[in-house]
Amino acid sequence: MANRKYIVGNWKMNGLRAQLSDIADIAAIAANHEGADVGICPPATLISAAVQANPGFAIGAQDCHFAENGAHTGCLSAAMLREAGATYSIVGHSERRADQQESDAEVKAKAEAAHAAGMDAIICVGETEEERDAGQAIEIVTVQLARSFPADASADWLTIAYEPVWAIGTGRVPETSDVAEMHAAIRDKLEELMGQGSDSVRILYGGSMNGGNASELLAVPNVDGGLVGGASLTAAKFGPIIEAAA
Ligand code: PEP
Repeated sequence: MANRKYIVGNWKMNGLRAQLSDIADIAAIAANHEGADVGICPPATLISAAVQANPGFAIGAQDCHFAENGAHTGCLSAAMLREAGATYSIVGHSERRADQQESDAEVKAKAEAAHAAGMDAIICVGETEEERDAGQAIEIVTVQLARSFPADASADWLTIAYEPVWAIGTGRVPETSDVAEMHAAIRDKLEELMGQGSDSVRILYGGSMNGGNASELLAVPNVDGGLVGGASLTAAKFGPIIEAAA
């Protein structure tokens, strides 16, 4: 049976209090499309206000630290984000893997920290353009997944996002046949890693998803939703993606 679709907006380092009205508009669209799960991950500074203003709408974090607390200036623990109202956290986004040199081991620890603090986790994996051109995409992504994979994983709290690095923010999208091949490989890897229950782990596609291509991407086998950057910033852009999923 197909999994219920899940559409998550990643606002990255965008959004001041003035943009809380965009979250309210998106939450209203989501409330009218109960056929899909929808959430927004704003910058951490907006989590608390977004949660208070939109009860019942799923607000998440874009990252969390793997440590419970301590000398990590500028970082936020999973418990802090949960206390602010986030119910899930993205971990291992390629921008963090590249900009902050996050390793697979750290991503695994972050997913486990999110779960320990009572949040769900969305683990991102994806290959670079060079890796795809070299024919290594499937190997790179499945190894990344295995090394980033948390202990005690369960579909109750874990989601995977396949995000080809070269498709993020570029307007370029892989062929649907390539998306299908990769999502099938991730599904197989999940079965190998966790056995029973792996079919229920949702696998999102991310990378230049928009209102024009969402229906086609969401129809690909094993694509259980989308992780959306640029097109999640306004209701006008995000609404059509929600509609395509619901
Ligand atoms: C992302 O940052 O997770 C992403 C998919 O960005 P965009 O949709 O802008 O490509």
